[in-house]
Amino acid sequence: MKRLEGQVAIITGGARGIGAGVCNVFCEAGATVALWDVLDGEVTVQEIRARGGDIFFQKVDVTDKNQIAASVQYIMDTYGKIDILINNAGIIRDRSFTKMSDEEWHSVLNVNLTGTYNTTKAVLPHMREAGYGRIVSASSVNALLGAFGQTNYAATKAGLIGFTKSLAREVGKYGITANAVAPGFIKTAMTESMPEAVIKAGIAQIPVRRIGTPEDIAYAYLYLASKEAGFVNGEVLNVNGGIIS
Ligand code: NDP
Repeated sequence: MKRLEGQVAIITGGARGIGAGVCNVFCEAGATVALWDVLDGEVTVQEIRARGGDIFFQKVDVTDKNQIAASVQYIMDTYGKIDILINNAGIIRDRSFTKMSDEEWHSVLNVNLTGTYNTTKAVLPHMREAGYGRIVSASSVNALLGAFGQTNYAATKAGLIGFTKSLAREVGKYGITANAVAPGFIKTAMTESMPEAVIKAGIAQIPVRRIGTPEDIAYAYLYLASKEAGFVNGEVLNVNGGIIS
């Protein structure tokens, strides 16, 4: 029996990067996956289906409560449950604090923090009713270290840790766990635009001496989303090659 056989998962921001890696690994583990993204997720869906995955795309902006409600309703009508919510969607709008605009501040808070609030708010009642659920959200190594130009981003990623630890205390009694994954330096579109020298310098700081892959992160999500992780609650799993633990 595969690890997530018979389970229904929502993965936000699943069209590319880490989210696409999570979709792939969860499908390999036997889950039915709803890929949510503002970007078109059809290419990712077709690639995973070609490997036998059970996955479908729903165009959902996590800042839009109406889109979330309609998509949750569709999943409930079709499958009757939602076992796993992976709050992976996130954006960066880097700028040193003195130059940062209100728009750059609020847009990052809106997607990374309020987006997670919106999705969790919509999915949680169904998990409560079922007496089972796994909620895993994307923090970041920069929540703990800070990063130049990321006061907005680091505030959201640190905020998600507080969100997760508090939610864990509230929902544990319903058979639901809330945890976070804090990725380090991962090869995705978010990091690909960085200058070569910055990437090299970053890798030199990582004890395992390589940049992470979306799959490195996806397997951490897989563990926290599994039934076997039922006694792990309010935890932040650092997946960063050993930069910080
Ligand atoms: P990507 O930008 O590659 O993928 C994120 C996906 O989320 C994109 O498809 C993006 O679309 C989508 N998205 C953005 N806004 C919304 C929204 N409002 N609603 C739904 N989907 C949205 O990011 P990564 O894969 O690199 O990162 C994934 C998560 O991991 C993020 O939360 C990030 O903060 C976190 N993380 C990443 C690290 C890294 O090194 N890559 C390190 C630490 C944490 P669009 O392109 O239109 O924005």
